Order: sequence, then structure tokens, then C-alpha cells
Amino acid sequence: MALDHQADFVIAGAGHNSLVTACYLAAAGQSCVVIDARDIPGGGAATEEILGPGFAIDTCSTGHTLILQNPIIRLDELGLVARHGLTYIDPDPVAHVALPDGEQITMHLDAERTIAEFARYCEADAESYRRLLAEFDELRPLLAKARAFPVGYGPSLRDLLKEHPRGGIWARRMAMSARDVILGEFVSPHVRAFMGWMAFQTAVPIDQAGTGLLAYQIIAPRQARSWSIPMGGSGRLVDALVGFLRARGTEFHLGTKIGGLILEDGRCVGVRAEDGRIFRGRKGVVSTIHVKHLVDMAPPDVWGETFRYGVKTYNVGVPFFASYLATTAPPVFQTPRGPRMAVSAGYAGWIEDLVQSGRNIYDGRFSDDIAWLLVATPSLVDPGRAPAGHHTVKLLTHTIYDLPGEGPAGWAARKEAYTDRLLATLRRFCPGFTDDVILARLTKSPVDIEAANPHMIHGAPHGGDRSATFSGEQRPVPGWAAHRMPIPGLWQTGGTTHPGGSITGYPGRNAARVILGDIGIDPATVMAT
Ligand SMILES: Cc1cc2nc3c(=O)[nH]c(=O)nc-3n(C[C@H](O)[C@H](O)[C@H](O)COP(=O)(O)OP(=O)(O)OC[C@H]3O[C@@H](n4cnc5c(N)ncnc54)[C@H](O)[C@@H]3O)c2cc1C
Repeated sequence: MALDHQADFVIAGAGHNSLVTACYLAAAGQSCVVIDARDIPGGGAATEEILGPGFAIDTCSTGHTLILQNPIIRLDELGLVARHGLTYIDPDPVAHVALPDGEQITMHLDAERTIAEFARYCEADAESYRRLLAEFDELRPLLAKARAFPVGYGPSLRDLLKEHPRGGIWARRMAMSARDVILGEFVSPHVRAFMGWMAFQTAVPIDQAGTGLLAYQIIAPRQARSWSIPMGGSGRLVDALVGFLRARGTEFHLGTKIGGLILEDGRCVGVRAEDGRIFRGRKGVVSTIHVKHLVDMAPPDVWGETFRYGVKTYNVGVPFFASYLATTAPPVFQTPRGPRMAVSAGYAGWIEDLVQSGRNIYDGRFSDDIAWLLVATPSLVDPGRAPAGHHTVKLLTHTIYDLPGEGPAGWAARKEAYTDRLLATLRRFCPGFTDDVILARLTKSPVDIEAANPHMIHGAPHGGDRSATFSGEQRPVPGWAAHRMPIPGLWQTGGTTHPGGSITGYPGRNAARVILGDIGIDPATVMAT
């Protein structure tokens, strides 16, 4: 068998999570060779000039709030901030959301100003929001602890709540749906819609049992610090990770799709690229290949029945639809209280509409009634992302992959009209955001998102559905939630592992903890906590 490249570890897929794993392995003196199907590293943390020179477009993620809580950034464990040029901006306002009757709510970094916004609709809701933030403070350290350890390496959130004086209250909230929590805590339809817009950010239908914490855990960290974005684009996080790795001699092989695992004596010793090249890992392989693809990369019997069944029944999640615009002006929301702009803005239907849109998606029903729209304009606070006086705008919503009667192929003919629907929704509130200000646009249906990144099956962004059914010890498969796969020498990271997708770096850091332990290196040599 011809050998093309060898290192201690083969890193199969270069999303931010596997780069994080590689960084900790490299910090511990391990050599890595990184392989990715895309021509650039970073997966969903990429910034690309897809609309022409000077327009730095985040093709997937823009907001990085969650990774700021991870010790890799919070404690700058690897010097990504101190030595590799990573800087975060905390936009204020945090968010601005338009509602069906033309009312609009702005969330400010000053919590009192957000509370005053809610009080315009209902004094009791304003007080509920104040209480929600205070209550979340008691959950925050527990959540951080539960996320920052691999499954089985520390107490789960459920275990931690058993020890907490108000644990029973949080356990009930955890089991409820976000919709029910919101309906129980707030009475104004406007505030409910705003809270629903926030809760739906994780792309899990908000009436699913077990989504209750989404009513807290998205909005509260944003209220504390904002929807933070890396200066220069999402890809600057990747630049810092790649810079760290290159400084330690890591080789990158991009534009290289992996087609198979190499097994010897029952152990995973490398991968085979689709072009036939062989990459060997003396100590093993770290994968961020989607588990639904991974199982096809080795004979069925080596995985065992439980793993194969778990992967077969694993839900890939709710697809995204994205439109990217290069513009001469930002979207300016006209409100009775004057114009408003925000890096994170959007539209929310009433809470019933938000619930219905999630049900439609789970049931495979197509609807072009837009109930949830995110409008990201990072150039408002980071002008270097566009030529002087210009802006980058991303429109994002949830939808389905498989169009009834048309199949996924139907998106090719439909997608521009769908972008027009998103724009029409936005223009109800931003009348000046006409075609005249749009210099260029590009649409990615779920089919296009999948084509750009094989980890985003059906255009679903998070490596799998993030409902309770597929979280914690169920992710990706019961018994295999702690990054070790059924084949010795193969570890899994990325969104298919706890705590799931988004730019958190937790799956990456947690996998590194497991792998280092497995090869006899104390993780404390490279991790502060
Ligand atoms: C439009 C859009 C907007 C989003 N916005 C946000 C946001 O604002 N904030 C946020 O937190 N999250 C956001 N997300 C989600 C976020 O991008 C993902 O959850 C995150 O990137 C997952 O990271 P990861 O490291 O697990 O894997 P990924 O980023 O998906 O990377 C996986 C990598 O593995 C590679 N790969 C897979 N299979 C193979 C193979 N066979 N051979 C070689 N390479 C392979 C892929 O090419 C890819 O580079 C968004 C996603 C989308 C699509």
C-alpha cells in the first residue's frame, strides 16, 4: 500500500472543532496531518470572498458567543488571542427584531435598556426578563461544567442539578419545551415572539419536549456579552488555529476528500483519500466526518449492531437556507422610535407561527411563509469586511431539504424566488433596502450548503439534530458519546458529538481530553481546567 503521508494523528476534516483537537494534540508534542475536502480549512467557520474582492463573507457562522465561554478562548489556553491575532467584537445593540404587526424590539447590551423595551409591551414581562437573567446566573456555571467535559468524564447537567437547591425547577424547565417556558413566563405576544426568535436560533423546533433551556441559554449569554464576532470574519478563528498548527509543523492537505478508513488488525491506522492517496496515523485518526458517512468507510461488522442502529436512527437536523449580499447600504429598520440597525437583526412571526414553522420542517412540509429570519450585517461594526461605505449582509432561515413532489433537485429552480421572499419580508421594515443597494447576491439552498460541506448533510448546520433525543449520552449513539468510536484508534469530534454544533469548540477540546488520556498524556499539561 503506497504511503503518502504519516504523522502521529490523521485529522480527518478541518472544521474548527477538529482543528481545536489538533491544536491540543500538537501542544502536547503530537504531530498531525490535517485533511479536508474543501479547498480552505474551517468548515462552517470560513470567511470567503464569494461576492467579489473586498467583501469578506461568512459563508456559514458569524456569531461566536459560545466559544468565548470555552477555556480555549476564555483562558486563552493556547495563546490564540495573545499570539495569533484573534480579536472579538461585542456589538451593541445585541439584536433587533421586527414583528408581524410592525412593532420592533431592540436588545441592548445594557440589560436595563432591554428591560425597558419589553416594558413598552408589558411591565410584568419586563420583570420576568429581569428574573430570567438573574435565574440563569445560577445555571451558568453548571452548564459550563457540563459542556466542558466529555460525556462520562464529569457530571452531566442532570447530575449537577440534583445537587442544586433549585435543581428541581431547572430539571422541569429542561424537560419542557421552549414554547411552554416562554408562554409560562411572558404574556405579551410581542415579547413572546422575540423570545421565540432567540430560542429558535439552535434550529430545533421550539415546541419539542426538552428544549426548555433554549428559552434561557441563548438569550442570557448574549445579554451578558452580545452576539460576539471575530474581527475580520469567522475565518479569523480558523486562521489563528491554523497559525498555531503550522508553527508546530502540521501539514495540511486541502481539496482532499476522504473515502475510506484503513484498518489493520482491527485498528484504525489511517485514511484513504478518494484520489487514492494514503495518510497514516501512527497513533490513530481523529474524525469530523459525519457519522452517517463514517459508517460507510469501513465494513459493517466492525461497528457493531448498536452503533449502526444509532447512526441509522440519528436525525441529521433542520436545514438552513442562506442568501449573501454585497451592498452599498446596511438594512435600516424604520421604527416609530427612529431608525435602528444591528449586526444581528431579523423578523419573528408570532410564537404560534414560529412553532408551526418548526412543525412544518419536522413533517417535511414546504412553506414560503417566513416565520423566522436572521439578518446578519457584521460590517456595521467591522467595516474592514467590505470596501469603504459598503456592507456584507447574510439572510438566514430554516427550511426543508426534500421538496414534496420535486425532491432536493427542486431547489435549483426555487431558490432565487425564496431569497426574494426573504428580501420582501425584510423590506416591510427596511423600505430603503431596495435592489438598488444590492451590488451582488448569492443564494445557498440546503442542497448547496450540503454540497459545500459533506458534514452538513441536507444543509443542516449542526452535525445532527440538537433536540434532547440526540444530545448528551445519545450523541451520536448511546455508548459511544465520549469520542471513542467502536474501532480502536478512531476518535470522533465535531458537531456529531456532545454538546453538538455551532462554534463552541467544546467537541474539539473534549475530544482532545479523551485522546490525550488514551495515549497516556495528562491533559493538564495543555489544559488549564
Ligand atoms: C449558513 C449557516 C450559518 C451559520 N451560522 C452560525 C452562527 O452564526 N453561529 C454558530 O455558532 N454556528 C453557525 N452555524 C453552524 C456552524 O457553522 C456549525 O455548527 C459548525 O461549523 C460545526 O463545526 P464542526 O467543527 O463540527 O464542523 P464543520 O464546520 O461542519 O466542519 C467539518 C469539516 O469536515 C470536512 N469533511 C467532512 N467530511 C469529509 C470527508 N469525507 N473528507 C474530507 N473532509 C470532510 C468538511 O469539508 C468540513 O470542512 C451556521 C451554519 C450555516 C450553514
